[in-house]
Amino acid sequence: MAEPDCLFCKIVAGEVPATRIREDERTVAFMDINPATRGHVLVVPRTHARDLHEIGAEDLAAVARAGQVVAALGRDRLAADGITMINSTGAAAWQTVFHFHLHVIPRYEHDPLRLPWVPGPGDPDAIAAAAGALTG
Ligand code: 5GP
Ligand code: ZN
Repeated sequence: MAEPDCLFCKIVAGEVPATRIREDERTVAFMDINPATRGHVLVVPRTHARDLHEIGAEDLAAVARAGQVVAALGRDRLAADGITMINSTGAAAWQTVFHFHLHVIPRYEHDPLRLPWVPGPGDPDAIAAAAGALTG
């Protein structure tokens, strides 16, 4: 259930302090200590899972639903104009805490947050080849 050296397991257990805003049978939501914007929340499963590959389907569904509720709180209580949800799986994706978590980041018109991806047109052959690898 819990990993002895996992920071977020300790937060779930109440052994490390966190500003919790919502919880249910399967999930806990708490404020990120380094918020990207006002109201940045992390939603985690109570049961330890390292990342997207490891989390069980029922916990994933519960985290997604809790994230939707937290997103509505950001909209209704903080007047967020939008929401960005992020999960990073693996160090290559910038995951730094290896207990699955969903970032729920309220977005505001003209907020300074920028993600390091500038969309541009892809090579159609490369897109088709990647689709072939994903489905073939
Ligand atoms: P990742 O980089 O793995 O996607 O996100 C980890 C997040 O956990 C970061 O946004 C970071 O600010 C947050 N974080 C790291 N340590 C703590 C902590 O002790 N308490 C809280 N509330 N958030 C933390
Ligand atoms: Zn954990």
